[in-house]
Amino acid sequence: NEIPTLSLLYKLNRIPIASDQASSYEPNVAYNDKISIIKQDITSLAIDAIVNAANESLLGGGGVDGAIHRAAGPDLVEECRTLDGCEAGDAKITDGYELPSKKVIHAVGPRWYALSAPDAEAKLKSCYRRGLELAVENDLKSIAFPAISTGVFSYPNVKACNDALTEVREFLDEGKGDGLQRIIFCNFLQKDQDIYYKHVSKHFPPV
Ligand code: ADP
Repeated sequence: NEIPTLSLLYKLNRIPIASDQASSYEPNVAYNDKISIIKQDITSLAIDAIVNAANESLLGGGGVDGAIHRAAGPDLVEECRTLDGCEAGDAKITDGYELPSKKVIHAVGPRWYALSAPDAEAKLKSCYRRGLELAVENDLKSIAFPAISTGVFSYPNVKACNDALTEVREFLDEGKGDGLQRIIFCNFLQKDQDIYYKHVSKHFPPV
């Protein structure tokens, strides 16, 4: 069984994507044509929503948070100031401003070192669920997640991958993601891309 390339799936689903990026897409793993795993700068994605791995202040930070704020321009932090922060495990939505993505969903991941493992796991899973819920509530069709909490927040990479895939699978199995056309796991590091490729088939067997 040939695994379709992401660019082919994008064409099939007519999800706009910056064409100059297409050649860098790696083959993806499909589940109901809905799940993609890519290694990419998330700020380059021209989709409905990218998820930010934010902190409680929602006012910017390092890592992917800094990259998203730089690419979105200063209007993003202005809107974020009106949101009154966000608790770990929750998420809030804003416009995308100068980003190619229409919306940004700011999810606050758990700090691995500050919580018990079960509490951190529950909060990480909640970030993915809240991201998907906000996408559905706002009638968005495509969403990309970074590897939330695996940077400065030190969540172990393999566990983060399995927890994210478990929660997204559960959300879809509950029938809550039927309106979503594309859920992208957008890795920045080759290490995470390799981990996702290794573990995805346990959660999303190839169709
Ligand atoms: P956290 O504080 O939640 O750990 P970080 O931003 O430190 O957030 O790291 C989360 C993940 O985001 C890491 O895997 C990091 O490599 C990745 N990352 C950093 N920049 C980008 C980017 N431009 N696009 C996608 N992922 C990114």
